[in-house]
Amino acid sequence: MTDRPRLLEGLDPQQRAAVTAPRGPVCVLAGAGTGKTRTITHRIAHLVQRGLVVPQQVLAVTFTARAAGEMRTRLRGLGASGVQAQTFHAAAFRQLRYFWPRALDGEIWPLVEHKFRLVMQAASRVGLSTDSDSVRDLASEIEWAKSALLTPEQYPAETARTGRSAPVAPERFVRVFEAYERAKNSAKVLDFDDLLLHTAAVLEEHSEVAEEFRARYRTFVVDEYQDVTPLQQRILDAWLGGRDDLTVVGDANQTIYSFAGASPKWLVDFPRRYPKAEVVRLERDYRSTPQVVELANRVIAVGGSGKSHTGLTLVGQRADGPEPGFAEYENEAAEAQAVARTVAELAGNGVPLSEMAVLYRVNAQSEVYEQALSDAEIPYQVRGGERFFARTEVRQAMAALRTAAGRGSTEGAELSEVVREVLSGVGLTQKQPEGGAARERWQSLNALAELADELSREVEGADLDRYVSELDARASAQHPPTMEGVTLASLHAAKGLEWDAVFLVGLTEGTLPIQHADGDDASVEEERRLFYVGVTRARKHLRISWALSRGQGGGRKRRRSRFLNGLASTGSGSESSGTARRANSARGSRKDVARCRSCSARLESAVEVKIGRCAKCPSDADDELLARLRSWRTERAHELKVPAYVVFSDA
Ligand code: ATP
Ligand code: MG
Repeated sequence: MTDRPRLLEGLDPQQRAAVTAPRGPVCVLAGAGTGKTRTITHRIAHLVQRGLVVPQQVLAVTFTARAAGEMRTRLRGLGASGVQAQTFHAAAFRQLRYFWPRALDGEIWPLVEHKFRLVMQAASRVGLSTDSDSVRDLASEIEWAKSALLTPEQYPAETARTGRSAPVAPERFVRVFEAYERAKNSAKVLDFDDLLLHTAAVLEEHSEVAEEFRARYRTFVVDEYQDVTPLQQRILDAWLGGRDDLTVVGDANQTIYSFAGASPKWLVDFPRRYPKAEVVRLERDYRSTPQVVELANRVIAVGGSGKSHTGLTLVGQRADGPEPGFAEYENEAAEAQAVARTVAELAGNGVPLSEMAVLYRVNAQSEVYEQALSDAEIPYQVRGGERFFARTEVRQAMAALRTAAGRGSTEGAELSEVVREVLSGVGLTQKQPEGGAARERWQSLNALAELADELSREVEGADLDRYVSELDARASAQHPPTMEGVTLASLHAAKGLEWDAVFLVGLTEGTLPIQHADGDDASVEEERRLFYVGVTRARKHLRISWALSRGQGGGRKRRRSRFLNGLASTGSGSESSGTARRANSARGSRKDVARCRSCSARLESAVEVKIGRCAKCPSDADDELLARLRSWRTERAHELKVPAYVVFSDA
């Protein structure tokens, strides 16, 4: 008899309660790093091990392809391979391909390749601006409307009812929306939301298909349930068809997609909707050091209460680690170079590059980090950027793979070999070439080949078709396959993941919180949750930084983010680690703290002290004074009557 994994060992009593609850509704409400994802994988494996469910009858869904891949790997390790762990879209795509010929006739339509172009043509037909920013706004508004389950006819009333600020007047938007849908239908292509909409509709309207589906899938699990959209909830309801064998886990403090229509209301309402649900709360944080956990609690605390909106406070379980560091730089290049230096330092101390991540608010921020890391000859990979899928060799490879899949070319053949064969046609050699561009090109093709290896390990009977649909899903989620090196990722793409060392960069007003959130409390709160998601990705080393201007020549000055108020004083580079804790103790011991003349808040930085106002309150100090103050050297900090650890960078 083979050894069966001991699934209940290494779980705390609350996690165990969720794992061993009988089939039926289970809801885990818990903070970051408390083991939610671990709990659901163990629960699935436990149900399988006890013979209560067959792996093929379980459908586990999550929001990113990477998270789904990790879930499959973990499940395999726990003896539960064969479970379908996918993103909502990938799961729907797979089902729709199967149902389509019967329910909708013919072959399933392919995914739209030029969505942006279709939206642009629709915008131009309606006489709207076709510059790329405007078109992108229109495309996201269409996605939002579809995720919110709104038809073009319903859209104006809904925006009027909720006061939603639309990118263009609702009547004009509706015409773009309709023109886009018409063009897409006449081209017989689908966008990503269509996959979910059509699948739900087929299950709702074709009872024989629904019956077959329900005989096949019996147990459903959703990770990151706080970010479910009305459309995803609709497909989940269609999958369940009134049954209740559903496990959901989530953290309302990590809702970061409400701009896209997601809402934690289904998570919060779950116990009411399923009164016999087993509801479990977890508070022990197994991911991060107590230093990181303490900071995370303060980021999300409501009005200094130490409690978050969910009423949960994380309790760190790991051994002590270094204090989180805070650092201010004159410009972004200096900030990025400092990150590259620290990466090299940590790597020298044995932290693997793949255990480090640079996280930022918007993808455009990646460039300066790519430059600094390349200059320092540190390998990196950009996640969640358009870059990987925009590379010429990747586009060529995808076209070649699609053609090969279309030919059928592959019964019985090993997926890895088939993919390598196709990729050799676009330049994948056996040996990695020396030198810059050729090497980079090779690395991206090789990453595509390795994805095929990964898929054949994880998915039984995966073929070229399956591989191509995985690639499509990743391209749409902008989730490139894994490559060696430091990860560069947006905060949204970092959800659910963890690294030993995390660099949280660009903590300035206008970036985090992002400019368009300003003035709207709900949006600023969402930005704060994004900051919380970033902080809680770090296992041990956490370094938060910001720069006072963009380019070296100065340019428009920036202010550090309001989210740092009360957390950090201004510090420079490596000297500032420990600032947060020392700032706390200073607050306790110093009676003569300087306060804002306007709102009496404690002043956090030397600049604020000199001006006599906090960063939130308007000040009439001129730019020149600010610039002068910021260039003062470290040793003069005492003249400003602020604690000595408040120093300025002089990059
Ligand atoms: P997030 O909200 O960020 O998605 P999560 O709640 O899903 O976090 P996991 O990723 O499941 O958290 O777990 C965080 C880390 O803690 C993982 O490395 C996991 O292996 C570890 N962990 C979870 N539970 C335990 C436990 N009982 N004992 C030891 N380690 C644990
Ligand atoms: Mg998780």
